[in-house]
Amino acid sequence: MGLKSEEKLPAHVVIFPFPAQGHMNCMLNLAHLLCLSDFHVTFIVSEFSHRLLTKNTSVPATFGVYPGFQFRAIPDGLPDDHPRFGDKLGDVVPSVTNNMVPFFKKMMADEDLLASPHRRPVTCFVADGFFSFATDFAEENGIPLVYFRPTSASYFWAMVSFIQTQNIPFQGKPMDELVKGIPGMEGFLRRRDLPGFFRTDDVNDNVFQSLTVATRQLVRAQAVIFNTFEDLEGSILSIMLEKLPRIYTIGPIHEHQKSRLIEKGSKASIVAGNLWEEDRSCIDWLNAQLPRSVIYVSFGSITVVTREQLMEFWHGLLNSSQRFLWVMRPDSITGGDQIPPELMEGTKEKGYLVKWAPQEEVLNHPAIGAFLTHSGWNSTLESVVAGVPMICWPYFSDQTINSRFVSEVWKIGLDIKDTCDRLIIERAIKEVMKVRKDEYLERADGMAKMAKKAVERGGSSYTNLDALIDYIISLVITL
Ligand code: UDP
Repeated sequence: MGLKSEEKLPAHVVIFPFPAQGHMNCMLNLAHLLCLSDFHVTFIVSEFSHRLLTKNTSVPATFGVYPGFQFRAIPDGLPDDHPRFGDKLGDVVPSVTNNMVPFFKKMMADEDLLASPHRRPVTCFVADGFFSFATDFAEENGIPLVYFRPTSASYFWAMVSFIQTQNIPFQGKPMDELVKGIPGMEGFLRRRDLPGFFRTDDVNDNVFQSLTVATRQLVRAQAVIFNTFEDLEGSILSIMLEKLPRIYTIGPIHEHQKSRLIEKGSKASIVAGNLWEEDRSCIDWLNAQLPRSVIYVSFGSITVVTREQLMEFWHGLLNSSQRFLWVMRPDSITGGDQIPPELMEGTKEKGYLVKWAPQEEVLNHPAIGAFLTHSGWNSTLESVVAGVPMICWPYFSDQTINSRFVSEVWKIGLDIKDTCDRLIIERAIKEVMKVRKDEYLERADGMAKMAKKAVERGGSSYTNLDALIDYIISLVITL
């Protein structure tokens, strides 16, 4: 390929998310934003996820309108019939590390960094912040690396600070003791708000080690993208800037995608990369409910609960007298247990169960009054944008920190972590949906307005995305 023709080609960004629902959703949104800026984008996806995206979503068709976009589906090393989620998630991490990542590296080498007569070799590698391999790989191949963190910035900052300054793990010490040494979070962050893997007794624990390495690696990237916005995490972001000079906060990215599509007058659909088929019958059910009368219950794509926990939630919901829409994935009970028949039967009067919901649409439905959530970062941002107060029951990872921010910093919900008791659940629902309903709704509405403003022209995330686009273009020129 002659240099002259290459000069006319746009930047070529390869995006590689960890192949899990929450990571893919927001990185697909990023891919769409980059397509709208006429970049060439290669999106790495597992063959398993690609099959589900093709079967259950219009995502491949949406990207079909961008000639510069391509999916590259590669094996994740697990058999076709492996469920990948629920309590089998533990198999995915080693399999991706030992199979998918080497496959990706080989593909990049064999195909000259994905060069073709119509595409430059990759000019920018956007890797999931989870992938510590990316730093060495990018350096060895001379490709600029931009990490994308699908979690909150506060979680990242807590990890960095805590790993550097504390004696960890802290098993056995009082959980309600305040944590020192995390600038910006002193005074409200307790030990129990830190991710569960700090509670291990074993510093050599695999998960603990791999997350520690991935966190440390981040500073070696040329830049980091966070799916957040300044009015939400600004106080933490300004402290972080001292460690990571090139940070782009461009969230809430799902809302940003919408705002840019509208601005461009584009007819392209919104990308929502749900791997499972959405049960839209719940929208009909919601249409028949009173405004702000329903609590939406969903614990995301990974969380599993025991049968006992499930029954506590169920009784708590019933006793609250509030109507509820509950997402119950078939793999969401530990040990592969089935949903108890009495729960299915007893729900009919007050509630509605689905296996997978169109969550964004649900949260924006006028009948929804609160969200009982596991505090995954995508779910948190979707609730923030919809102005829906939350009751948080975090499960792992950044969720324990996100839920503390929801309750103590933004004051748009309650955090019931480390408990699973029908009385506490009932009281929390009544508190958020009845006793202090107006004040929670008012604050949630204020936050929703700030979120929307951030992604409109002149807003902080809008401006930062423009700067990111300029930065990616500058990488082509300096290569
Ligand atoms: N989601 C959905 N329908 C459901 C449950 C979840 O569309 O019934 C989507 C939700 O909108 C969010 C993602 O799945 O975008 C879950 O991501 P999150 O970061 O909240 O949690 P994770 O699944 O990674 O634990």
